[in-house]
Amino acid sequence: MPIIVLDPGHGGTDPGASANGLQEKNLTLTIGLKVKQLLEAKYVVDVRLTRETDVLVGLSERADYANTLGASYFVSLHHNAGGGTGFESYIYPGTSSSETGRRQDVIHGEIMNFLSGYGVRDRGQKEANFAVLRETAMPAILLENLFIDTVNDANLLKNSNFITGLSNAIATGIGKALKL
Ligand SMILES: [Zn+2]
Repeated sequence: MPIIVLDPGHGGTDPGASANGLQEKNLTLTIGLKVKQLLEAKYVVDVRLTRETDVLVGLSERADYANTLGASYFVSLHHNAGGGTGFESYIYPGTSSSETGRRQDVIHGEIMNFLSGYGVRDRGQKEANFAVLRETAMPAILLENLFIDTVNDANLLKNSNFITGLSNAIATGIGKALKL
């Protein structure tokens, strides 16, 4: 059965972005645990997390973990900051015409299909030389799920129905991308 590695960003002494009473490390872990639960309920898959508690894990350690497992897919979970709004996804530069890009199309579309119901802006399918995208040996994607430091986005991230719906969209997107 395929192994999927979910990567809740930050943790421990690295909180990630903090604003509006939210900490990125807590949200990424909440969503990661929910996505794992949903994936395992819907599909025959082996889902692992790079961290399951509030601990600091290095970026190379996260990629090495997935590489050692021989995972089929690596999905990194983050939240944005810096004063924008909306959702964006990232893959490693130059991989848009490969399987990595095909999966990004599917997952990005599935998530935006959910988010557009809340009026969330689509910031696009992007590429970046992030360590976890560069060092993973399998297709990988990094999701920036709204802006913690923008009040409208933060209010959605505080809404448990929204978090469950977003987690469900991520899980369904992964399932469709992997043709599970
Ligand atoms: Zn982050």
